[in-house]
Amino acid sequence: MTVCERAARVFAEVFGIDPDGVWCAPGRVNLIGEHVDYAGGLCLPMALPHVTAVAVRTRSDGRLRLHSDGFDPVDADLFGDRVDGWGGYVAGVAWALDVPGFTGADIAVVSDVPVGAGLSSSAALEAATALAFASLYMLPSDEAGRDALARACVRAENEYVGAPTGGMDQQIALRARAGHAMLLDCADGRAEHIPFDAQTHGVTVLVIDTGTGHRLVDGRYGDRRAEVDAAARRAGPLRDLSSPPALDDTVLRRRARHVVTEIARVRDAVAVLRAGAVRDLGPILDASHRSLRDDFEVSCPELDVAADAARAAGAFGARMVGGGFGGSVLALCDTGDVPRIEEAARTAAAGRGFPRPSFLEAVPSSGARRC
Ligand code: ADP
Ligand code: MG
Repeated sequence: MTVCERAARVFAEVFGIDPDGVWCAPGRVNLIGEHVDYAGGLCLPMALPHVTAVAVRTRSDGRLRLHSDGFDPVDADLFGDRVDGWGGYVAGVAWALDVPGFTGADIAVVSDVPVGAGLSSSAALEAATALAFASLYMLPSDEAGRDALARACVRAENEYVGAPTGGMDQQIALRARAGHAMLLDCADGRAEHIPFDAQTHGVTVLVIDTGTGHRLVDGRYGDRRAEVDAAARRAGPLRDLSSPPALDDTVLRRRARHVVTEIARVRDAVAVLRAGAVRDLGPILDASHRSLRDDFEVSCPELDVAADAARAAGAFGARMVGGGFGGSVLALCDTGDVPRIEEAARTAAAGRGFPRPSFLEAVPSSGARRC
Protein backbone atom coordinates (compact mmCIF):
# COMPACT_ATOMS: atom_id res chain seq x y z
CA MET A 1 0.00 0.00 0.00
CA THR A 2 1.35 3.43 -0.88
CA VAL A 3 1.74 6.22 1.65
CA CYS A 4 -1.21 7.99 0.00
CA GLU A 5 -3.42 4.91 0.26
CA ARG A 6 -2.47 4.51 3.89
CA ALA A 7 -3.39 8.14 4.56
CA ALA A 8 -6.86 7.58 3.12
CA ARG A 9 -7.29 4.41 5.17
CA VAL A 10 -6.05 5.97 8.42
CA PHE A 11 -8.37 8.92 7.85
CA ALA A 12 -11.37 6.62 7.48
CA GLU A 13 -10.38 4.68 10.62
CA VAL A 14 -9.82 7.76 12.76
CA PHE A 15 -12.62 10.02 11.57
CA GLY A 16 -15.16 7.40 10.45
CA ILE A 17 -15.74 8.92 7.02
CA ASP A 18 -13.81 9.25 3.74
CA PRO A 19 -11.57 12.27 3.11
CA ASP A 20 -12.27 14.85 0.40
CA GLY A 21 -8.91 13.96 -1.08
CA VAL A 22 -5.29 13.02 -0.42
CA TRP A 23 -2.23 15.10 -1.31
CA CYS A 24 1.45 14.40 -0.80
CA ALA A 25 4.78 16.17 -0.89
CA PRO A 26 8.33 14.82 -0.83
CA GLY A 27 11.27 15.09 1.51
CA ARG A 28 14.42 16.42 -0.07
CA VAL A 29 18.13 16.18 -0.12
CA ASN A 30 20.25 19.14 -1.17
CA LEU A 31 23.04 18.14 -3.54
CA ILE A 32 24.98 21.31 -2.80
CA GLY A 33 24.39 24.85 -1.56
CA GLU A 34 23.96 24.34 2.19
CA HIS A 35 23.19 27.18 4.61
CA VAL A 36 22.99 29.73 1.80
CA ASP A 37 19.23 29.97 1.26
CA TYR A 38 18.70 32.62 3.93
CA ALA A 39 21.65 34.55 2.46
CA GLY A 40 19.83 34.79 -0.86
CA GLY A 41 22.22 32.30 -2.44
CA LEU A 42 21.91 29.39 -4.84
CA CYS A 43 21.19 25.80 -3.95
CA LEU A 44 20.59 22.57 -5.83
CA PRO A 45 18.10 20.34 -4.00
CA MET A 46 16.27 17.31 -5.35
CA ALA A 47 13.08 15.69 -4.09
CA LEU A 48 13.15 12.21 -2.59
CA PRO A 49 10.76 9.40 -3.53
CA HIS A 50 9.73 9.51 0.15
CA VAL A 51 6.59 11.54 0.82
CA THR A 52 4.28 12.86 3.49
CA ALA A 53 0.61 12.40 2.60
CA VAL A 54 -2.30 14.32 4.09
CA ALA A 55 -5.87 13.06 3.78
CA VAL A 56 -8.15 16.05 4.29
CA ARG A 57 -11.84 16.68 4.81
CA THR A 58 -13.06 20.19 5.39
CA ARG A 59 -15.21 21.14 8.40
CA SER A 60 -17.54 24.08 8.92
CA ASP A 61 -17.30 24.49 12.72
CA GLY A 62 -13.87 26.10 13.02
CA ARG A 63 -12.15 23.03 14.42
CA LEU A 64 -8.86 21.61 13.27
CA ARG A 65 -8.45 17.94 14.15
CA LEU A 66 -5.16 16.24 13.25
CA HIS A 67 -3.91 12.70 13.44
CA SER A 68 -0.44 11.31 12.78
CA ASP A 69 0.68 7.93 14.09
CA GLY A 70 3.26 8.34 16.82
CA PHE A 71 2.32 11.96 17.55
CA ASP A 72 -0.21 13.38 20.00
CA PRO A 73 -3.58 14.00 18.36
CA VAL A 74 -4.61 17.63 17.93
CA ASP A 75 -8.10 19.07 18.39
CA ALA A 76 -7.96 22.84 18.26
CA ASP A 77 -10.22 25.84 17.80
CA LEU A 78 -8.86 27.37 14.62
CA PHE A 79 -9.82 30.88 15.63
CA GLY A 80 -8.87 30.63 19.30
CA ASP A 81 -6.04 28.27 20.16
CA ARG A 82 -2.49 28.60 19.10
CA VAL A 83 -1.51 25.11 18.05
CA ASP A 84 1.77 23.95 19.60
CA GLY A 85 3.96 21.02 18.61
CA TRP A 86 3.69 19.22 15.31
CA GLY A 87 0.19 20.53 14.64
CA GLY A 88 1.74 23.98 14.32
CA TYR A 89 3.17 23.01 10.93
CA VAL A 90 -0.38 22.39 9.67
CA ALA A 91 -2.15 25.19 11.54
CA GLY A 92 0.65 27.53 10.49
CA VAL A 93 0.02 26.83 6.83
CA ALA A 94 -3.70 27.56 7.25
CA TRP A 95 -2.77 30.75 9.09
CA ALA A 96 -0.21 31.86 6.49
CA LEU A 97 -2.43 31.11 3.49
CA ASP A 98 -5.34 32.86 5.20
CA VAL A 99 -7.66 30.98 2.85
CA PRO A 100 -10.97 32.83 2.35
CA GLY A 101 -13.78 30.57 3.49
CA PHE A 102 -11.59 28.13 5.41
CA THR A 103 -13.53 26.97 8.47
CA GLY A 104 -11.60 23.97 9.70
CA ALA A 105 -10.57 20.49 8.66
CA ASP A 106 -9.89 16.94 9.74
CA ILE A 107 -6.49 15.73 8.55
CA ALA A 108 -4.71 12.37 8.76
CA VAL A 109 -0.97 12.39 8.11
CA VAL A 110 1.08 9.40 6.96
CA SER A 111 4.73 9.67 5.94
CA ASP A 112 7.78 7.66 5.05
CA VAL A 113 10.09 10.68 5.24
CA PRO A 114 12.42 10.19 8.22
CA VAL A 115 11.59 12.86 10.81
CA GLY A 116 14.36 15.13 12.08
CA ALA A 117 16.97 13.53 9.83
CA GLY A 118 17.76 16.65 7.82
CA LEU A 119 15.56 15.41 4.97
CA SER A 120 12.89 18.02 5.51
CA SER A 121 9.91 16.16 6.87
CA SER A 122 8.67 19.53 8.14
CA ALA A 123 8.47 21.09 4.68
CA ALA A 124 6.94 17.90 3.27
CA LEU A 125 4.12 18.22 5.82
CA GLU A 126 3.69 21.92 5.11
CA ALA A 127 3.76 21.52 1.33
CA ALA A 128 1.28 18.64 1.28
CA THR A 129 -1.04 20.70 3.51
CA ALA A 130 -0.64 23.82 1.36
CA LEU A 131 -1.39 21.98 -1.88
CA ALA A 132 -4.42 20.36 -0.28
CA PHE A 133 -5.80 23.76 0.74
CA ALA A 134 -4.96 25.13 -2.72
CA SER A 135 -6.94 22.34 -4.38
CA LEU A 136 -9.87 22.55 -1.98
CA TYR A 137 -10.13 26.36 -2.08
CA MET A 138 -9.15 27.03 -5.72
CA LEU A 139 -5.85 28.78 -5.05
CA PRO A 140 -3.47 28.78 -8.04
CA SER A 141 -1.07 25.83 -8.17
CA ASP A 142 0.76 26.56 -11.41
CA GLU A 143 4.50 27.42 -11.15
CA ALA A 144 3.84 30.92 -9.77
CA GLY A 145 1.12 29.58 -7.50
CA ARG A 146 3.48 26.97 -6.10
CA ASP A 147 6.08 29.65 -5.42
CA ALA A 148 3.43 31.55 -3.43
CA LEU A 149 2.41 28.37 -1.57
CA ALA A 150 6.06 27.72 -0.71
CA ARG A 151 6.40 31.25 0.68
CA ALA A 152 3.33 30.68 2.84
CA CYS A 153 4.91 27.46 4.13
CA VAL A 154 8.08 29.40 5.02
CA ARG A 155 6.00 31.91 6.99
CA ALA A 156 4.26 29.01 8.74
CA GLU A 157 7.59 27.54 9.80
CA ASN A 158 9.30 30.86 10.67
CA GLU A 159 6.48 32.86 12.21
CA TYR A 160 4.02 30.25 13.48
CA VAL A 161 6.26 27.32 14.51
CA GLY A 162 9.25 29.55 15.23
CA ALA A 163 11.92 27.62 13.29
CA PRO A 164 14.04 30.12 11.36
CA THR A 165 14.60 28.03 8.20
CA GLY A 166 15.31 29.54 4.78
CA GLY A 167 13.13 28.76 1.80
CA MET A 168 14.79 25.89 -0.01
CA ASP A 169 12.89 23.06 1.66
CA GLN A 170 9.45 24.43 0.90
CA GLN A 171 10.34 25.43 -2.68
CA ILE A 172 11.69 22.00 -3.64
CA ALA A 173 8.81 20.20 -1.90
CA LEU A 174 6.33 22.11 -4.05
CA ARG A 175 8.23 22.57 -7.32
CA ALA A 176 10.50 19.54 -7.86
CA ARG A 177 10.49 17.59 -11.12
CA ALA A 178 11.25 13.89 -11.41
CA GLY A 179 14.66 13.18 -12.92
CA HIS A 180 15.91 16.66 -12.12
CA ALA A 181 17.67 18.62 -9.45
CA MET A 182 16.40 22.17 -9.03
CA LEU A 183 18.75 25.13 -9.21
CA LEU A 184 16.99 27.55 -6.91
CA ASP A 185 17.87 31.20 -6.69
CA CYS A 186 16.85 32.00 -3.14
CA ALA A 187 17.02 35.75 -3.79
CA ASP A 188 13.98 35.76 -6.05
CA GLY A 189 12.60 32.21 -6.00
CA ARG A 190 13.51 31.54 -9.62
CA ALA A 191 14.06 27.87 -10.36
CA GLU A 192 15.75 26.03 -13.19
CA HIS A 193 15.33 22.28 -13.51
CA ILE A 194 18.66 20.56 -14.23
CA PRO A 195 18.52 16.99 -15.59
CA PHE A 196 20.14 14.67 -13.07
CA ASP A 197 20.35 11.11 -14.26
CA ALA A 198 22.81 9.56 -11.84
CA GLN A 199 21.19 6.15 -12.30
CA THR A 200 21.96 5.95 -16.00
CA HIS A 201 25.62 6.56 -15.13
CA GLY A 202 25.54 3.70 -12.63
CA VAL A 203 25.82 6.22 -9.82
CA THR A 204 23.77 6.33 -6.61
CA VAL A 205 23.06 9.23 -4.30
CA LEU A 206 23.11 7.44 -0.97
CA VAL A 207 21.73 9.15 2.11
CA ILE A 208 23.18 8.01 5.42
CA ASP A 209 20.86 8.97 8.27
CA THR A 210 23.13 9.05 11.31
CA GLY A 211 20.18 8.65 13.67
CA THR A 212 21.27 11.71 15.61
CA GLY A 213 18.33 14.06 15.48
CA HIS A 214 18.93 17.74 14.99
CA ARG A 215 16.95 20.52 16.59
CA LEU A 216 16.40 23.56 14.42
CA VAL A 217 14.52 25.39 17.12
CA ASP A 218 17.26 25.07 19.76
CA GLY A 219 19.12 28.17 18.69
CA ARG A 220 22.30 27.16 16.90
CA TYR A 221 20.69 27.33 13.47
CA GLY A 222 19.37 30.77 14.38
CA ASP A 223 22.87 31.81 15.54
CA ARG A 224 24.27 31.01 12.09
CA ARG A 225 21.54 33.02 10.43
CA ALA A 226 22.32 35.97 12.66
CA GLU A 227 26.05 35.67 11.91
CA VAL A 228 25.42 35.58 8.18
CA ASP A 229 23.18 38.65 8.50
CA ALA A 230 25.90 40.42 10.48
CA ALA A 231 28.54 39.54 7.88
CA ALA A 232 26.25 40.85 5.12
CA ARG A 233 25.72 44.13 6.98
CA ARG A 234 29.48 44.67 6.94
CA ALA A 235 30.38 43.27 3.51
CA GLY A 236 27.19 43.78 1.49
CA PRO A 237 25.03 40.94 0.13
CA LEU A 238 27.29 37.85 0.26
CA ARG A 239 25.54 36.51 -2.79
CA ASP A 240 27.07 39.29 -4.93
CA LEU A 241 30.69 38.73 -3.84
CA SER A 242 33.08 36.91 -6.16
CA SER A 243 35.55 36.18 -3.34
CA PRO A 244 35.24 35.92 0.45
CA PRO A 245 35.24 39.32 2.19
CA ALA A 246 38.16 40.35 4.44
CA LEU A 247 36.24 40.96 7.66
CA ASP A 248 38.05 41.82 10.91
CA ASP A 249 35.89 39.52 12.99
CA THR A 250 37.38 36.06 12.48
CA VAL A 251 34.12 34.21 13.14
CA LEU A 252 32.12 36.33 10.71
CA ARG A 253 34.94 36.03 8.18
CA ARG A 254 34.73 32.24 8.26
CA ARG A 255 30.93 32.23 8.11
CA ALA A 256 31.01 34.55 5.10
CA ARG A 257 33.72 32.47 3.45
CA HIS A 258 31.48 29.42 3.68
CA VAL A 259 28.55 31.22 2.07
CA VAL A 260 30.60 32.74 -0.77
CA THR A 261 32.53 29.57 -1.61
CA GLU A 262 29.43 27.38 -1.26
CA ILE A 263 27.53 29.47 -3.81
CA ALA A 264 30.51 29.09 -6.18
CA ARG A 265 30.38 25.32 -5.62
CA VAL A 266 26.72 25.29 -6.66
CA ARG A 267 27.69 26.92 -9.97
CA ASP A 268 30.49 24.36 -10.41
CA ALA A 269 28.10 21.50 -9.68
CA VAL A 270 25.59 22.72 -12.25
CA ALA A 271 28.37 22.92 -14.86
CA VAL A 272 29.42 19.37 -14.04
CA LEU A 273 25.86 18.07 -14.36
CA ARG A 274 25.35 19.91 -17.64
CA ALA A 275 28.52 18.26 -18.94
CA GLY A 276 27.16 14.85 -17.92
CA ALA A 277 30.14 14.28 -15.61
CA VAL A 278 28.17 13.15 -12.54
CA ARG A 279 31.19 11.58 -10.81
CA ASP A 280 32.97 14.94 -10.84
CA LEU A 281 30.47 16.13 -8.24
CA GLY A 282 32.52 14.15 -5.71
CA PRO A 283 35.31 16.65 -4.97
CA ILE A 284 32.74 19.47 -4.86
CA LEU A 285 30.78 17.59 -2.18
CA ASP A 286 33.97 16.99 -0.18
CA ALA A 287 34.88 20.68 -0.32
CA SER A 288 31.36 21.57 0.85
CA HIS A 289 31.69 19.25 3.83
CA ARG A 290 35.02 20.78 4.84
CA SER A 291 33.57 24.26 4.58
CA LEU A 292 30.49 23.35 6.67
CA ARG A 293 32.68 21.62 9.24
CA ASP A 294 35.54 24.11 9.57
CA ASP A 295 34.22 27.51 8.49
CA PHE A 296 30.53 27.25 9.27
CA GLU A 297 30.90 24.83 12.21
CA VAL A 298 27.59 23.05 11.82
CA SER A 299 28.90 19.49 11.54
CA CYS A 300 29.33 17.06 14.43
CA PRO A 301 31.34 13.88 15.03
CA GLU A 302 28.54 11.58 13.83
CA LEU A 303 28.35 13.40 10.48
CA ASP A 304 32.14 13.62 10.05
CA VAL A 305 32.62 9.93 10.82
CA ALA A 306 29.89 8.90 8.35
CA ALA A 307 31.29 11.09 5.57
CA ASP A 308 34.86 9.87 6.16
CA ALA A 309 33.76 6.23 6.21
CA ALA A 310 31.84 6.62 2.96
CA ARG A 311 34.86 8.21 1.23
CA ALA A 312 37.23 5.56 2.57
CA ALA A 313 34.90 2.85 1.22
CA GLY A 314 34.96 4.30 -2.29
CA ALA A 315 32.41 7.12 -2.47
CA PHE A 316 33.39 9.85 -4.97
CA GLY A 317 32.44 12.44 -2.39
CA ALA A 318 30.36 12.90 0.73
CA ARG A 319 29.00 15.76 2.78
CA MET A 320 26.61 16.53 5.58
CA VAL A 321 23.23 17.79 4.42
CA GLY A 322 20.53 19.90 6.04
CA GLY A 323 20.85 22.22 8.98
CA GLY A 324 23.60 20.21 10.66
CA PHE A 325 24.40 19.24 14.28
CA GLY A 326 23.11 15.77 13.40
CA GLY A 327 20.93 14.45 10.62
CA SER A 328 22.22 12.94 7.42
CA VAL A 329 25.18 12.63 5.08
CA LEU A 330 24.92 12.39 1.32
CA ALA A 331 27.43 10.14 -0.44
CA LEU A 332 27.84 9.84 -4.19
CA CYS A 333 29.05 6.42 -5.25
CA ASP A 334 29.04 3.68 -7.85
CA THR A 335 25.78 1.79 -7.42
CA GLY A 336 27.74 -1.45 -6.96
CA ASP A 337 29.58 0.06 -3.98
CA VAL A 338 26.41 0.82 -1.99
CA PRO A 339 26.57 -2.30 0.23
CA ARG A 340 30.26 -1.72 0.99
CA ILE A 341 29.65 1.90 1.93
CA GLU A 342 26.68 1.03 4.12
CA GLU A 343 28.76 -1.57 5.93
CA ALA A 344 31.62 0.90 6.38
CA ALA A 345 29.29 3.54 7.81
CA ARG A 346 27.73 1.03 10.23
CA THR A 347 31.13 -0.23 11.37
CA ALA A 348 32.51 3.28 11.85
CA ALA A 349 29.46 4.36 13.86
CA ALA A 350 29.60 1.24 16.05
CA GLY A 351 33.30 1.80 16.69
CA ARG A 352 32.56 5.23 18.11
CA GLY A 353 29.46 4.19 20.05
CA PHE A 354 27.19 6.24 17.77
CA PRO A 355 23.64 5.18 16.85
CA ARG A 356 23.29 2.64 14.06
CA PRO A 357 22.81 4.60 10.81
CA SER A 358 20.06 3.88 8.30
CA PHE A 359 20.15 4.43 4.56
CA LEU A 360 18.03 5.49 1.64
CA GLU A 361 18.71 5.92 -2.05
CA ALA A 362 17.79 9.34 -3.35
CA VAL A 363 16.19 9.12 -6.78
CA PRO A 364 15.14 12.58 -7.98
CA SER A 365 11.34 12.64 -7.73
CA SER A 366 8.36 14.98 -8.27
CA GLY A 367 7.09 17.75 -6.05
CA ALA A 368 3.78 18.01 -4.20
CA ARG A 369 0.84 16.43 -6.01
CA ARG A 370 -2.66 15.14 -5.57
CA CYS A 371 -2.49 11.40 -4.99
P1 ADP B 1 13.27 17.76 9.36
O1 ADP B 1 12.45 18.73 8.58
O2 ADP B 1 14.70 17.78 8.97
O3 ADP B 1 12.73 16.36 9.32
P2 ADP B 1 12.44 19.45 11.53
O4 ADP B 1 12.88 19.56 12.94
O5 ADP B 1 12.51 20.64 10.67
O6 ADP B 1 13.23 18.21 10.89
O7 ADP B 1 10.92 18.97 11.48
C1 ADP B 1 10.50 17.83 12.21
C2 ADP B 1 9.17 18.13 12.87
O8 ADP B 1 8.14 18.26 11.86
C3 ADP B 1 8.68 17.02 13.77
O9 ADP B 1 9.21 17.14 15.07
C4 ADP B 1 7.18 17.25 13.75
O10 ADP B 1 6.82 18.31 14.60
C5 ADP B 1 6.93 17.70 12.32
N1 ADP B 1 6.61 16.54 11.44
C6 ADP B 1 7.31 16.12 10.39
N2 ADP B 1 6.74 15.03 9.82
C7 ADP B 1 5.65 14.75 10.55
C8 ADP B 1 4.63 13.73 10.51
N3 ADP B 1 4.64 12.78 9.57
N4 ADP B 1 3.66 13.77 11.44
C9 ADP B 1 3.64 14.71 12.38
N5 ADP B 1 4.57 15.68 12.49
C10 ADP B 1 5.56 15.71 11.59
MG1 MG C 1 12.69 20.83 8.61
